[in-house]
Amino acid sequence: MARARTDVSKRDDGLQSAYSGMVVETGHVWGPLDLVGGLPCLDFANTAGGHTKIREVERIPTYQDMINWARYAQTLSGSEARTALGLAKSKPQEAARQLHETHVFREALHRSVSAIAGGRPIESQDFAHVRSIITKAVAVAEIAGRDEAFVWSVDAGAAGLGIVLSRMALSAHDMLTREKPSQLRQCERCTWLFIDRTKNQKRRFCRQDACGNKARAERFYNRHHG
Ligand SMILES: [Zn+2]
Repeated sequence: MARARTDVSKRDDGLQSAYSGMVVETGHVWGPLDLVGGLPCLDFANTAGGHTKIREVERIPTYQDMINWARYAQTLSGSEARTALGLAKSKPQEAARQLHETHVFREALHRSVSAIAGGRPIESQDFAHVRSIITKAVAVAEIAGRDEAFVWSVDAGAAGLGIVLSRMALSAHDMLTREKPSQLRQCERCTWLFIDRTKNQKRRFCRQDACGNKARAERFYNRHHG
């Protein structure tokens, strides 16, 4: 698949990013290494990031990129994805607004979980935003029995173009009400988030093959050159 990396300061094709400093990567080819968060809303938070502690790359800069991610992450079915893309085509301005709202929610959620993971208080503005989006999502959701628990679910008809935002808000609601805060972590090297379900609770990196190995190489270098 063709891939374009564009500095947002030079973009003129309507690509969206949450921050003006972010580099936009459109057409990202999603793979299992993009889904290491352990919860849908954490994988969603990890659709931005990079190799450092700066949120430098935006990987869902267009509505289509967001739907492609949601399809890969099994947040949307094939027919739901097609319906959402059809709606976006007929209402491009509304789709752009929804995408922006989704980016803003993602970053507020990211900052909130980063704070939890770092043992810091959550900024009240961020938590108020996360809470308001969750409240809106619950307002159009149904409660449904699944194998082990009752869960809030929202159907594509009720959510329209906001389906990804609604589902991620409900996933965040599940996380905040069900998961242990002590298991929420941020990679020691980058900004990615994950839930640590390892037995010894000592997972430190989003991916051992990426951040873990880089950290080890740095330690080695510093020992021999420091
Ligand atoms: Zn990492």
